[in-house]
Amino acid sequence: MKSLKDKILQEGKVLSDTVLKVDTFLNHQIDPLLMKEIGEEFANRYSDEVITKILTIESSGIAPATMLGLTIGAPVVFARKRKSLTLANNLYSSSVHSFTKNETNEISVSRDFLTADDNVLIVDDFLANGEAVKGLLDIAEQAGANVIGVGIVIEKGFQEGGKNLREQGIRIESLANIKSLANGQVEFYDELI
Ligand code: 5GP
Repeated sequence: MKSLKDKILQEGKVLSDTVLKVDTFLNHQIDPLLMKEIGEEFANRYSDEVITKILTIESSGIAPATMLGLTIGAPVVFARKRKSLTLANNLYSSSVHSFTKNETNEISVSRDFLTADDNVLIVDDFLANGEAVKGLLDIAEQAGANVIGVGIVIEKGFQEGGKNLREQGIRIESLANIKSLANGQVEFYDELI
């Protein structure tokens, strides 16, 4: 997606060979027009599927997931990283190790919001080692829901998550796929990869 790649090149900060900071439009401040385009692009890529629910994880998956939900008219459920007092029981839970924070979080979704009748699209901001997506797949499986695929805003294709998940037969659509962050430079794979 050209506008997203341009934005990454203009505003992304390469913090190391493995971490990209995009807090001007995705991870802290949010660019609503770009998010709207991102939602429409996910909708286009999955226009061959019927999606009844979009599943993401707080906090940075919520904006792109909501814009997709707005585009296709489907509800968005986000997995919570902390158990709230009102979310004590009746949960699906999974453990997710965070690549950027180097900590493990228990993530949970209420059983009220995901069922065996759902056709789920998983959405997240980044795909690195695939831990967050694996946790969401685990939760969808516990619900007996059908996962039709995954939509990722920025994949770091030089890490293993995307490869491992695709090898399991999971459809992944990423809107920008980074080949390398070496020498402080962002290099993308070709559009077709
Ligand atoms: P994974 O679970 O695939 O290893 O990592 C994905 C999660 O870690 C995403 O939800 C995202 O929040 C965070 N993440 C991974 N790599 C990066 C990165 O380079 N930059 C930012 N801002 N977040 C990242």
